[in-house]
Amino acid sequence: MTSREFLERAGAGELIGIRCTKCGDLAIPPRELCPACHHRGWEEARLSGEGTIASYTVIRVAPRGHAGDVPYAIVAVQLRKGSGCSGA
Ligand SMILES: [Zn+2]
Repeated sequence: MTSREFLERAGAGELIGIRCTKCGDLAIPPRELCPACHHRGWEEARLSGEGTIASYTVIRVAPRGHAGDVPYAIVAVQLRKGSGCSGA
């Protein structure tokens, strides 16, 4: 899965991670190497999106090109690992 496909599917409400076919570690967004074992084989893992908000901020002064989007929130979510994941 490419980063572009990941973003398009996330924008459509479908949260997809990737699972290393060697060690089973989950990663999001897509990447080339598994950070845990450096393997390059991945399979899709559908995520439920359930989790806990770890932090958030409200952007009121946007970067160039996004002035019309303010205010908007950026949220860091600790996903519940394994919940709703395919093959979990
Ligand atoms: Zn791995």
